[in-house]
Amino acid sequence: MAKASEAVIQCPFCKKQNVKALHVPSYVTHRIEHISNRRSVVNFRVPESWEIISECPDCKKTQKEIQDNLDGKSCLSHEERIKKLQARGLPTKVEF
Ligand SMILES: [Zn+2]
Repeated sequence: MAKASEAVIQCPFCKKQNVKALHVPSYVTHRIEHISNRRSVVNFRVPESWEIISECPDCKKTQKEIQDNLDGKSCLSHEERIKKLQARGLPTKVEF
């Protein structure tokens, strides 16, 4: 398990370097899978992640607003999100 470390990152709104975040670096782990009665160990990489832990002292954006912006929630529509997932080759289930 990777260790999270505290870092100060740039606020996506006012571009000032003063938002506190927890950074968990990318790491490799494994899980046990059972495929047709055979047990196998599958390695997979967990992508790095950022968790905002403070608001911006300059523009007063909240922790959640900064986190959403970082995750791309405010600028990506549902369709764009699916396209992005498909481009990465992940299985997506689209319901109409
Ligand atoms: Zn800011």
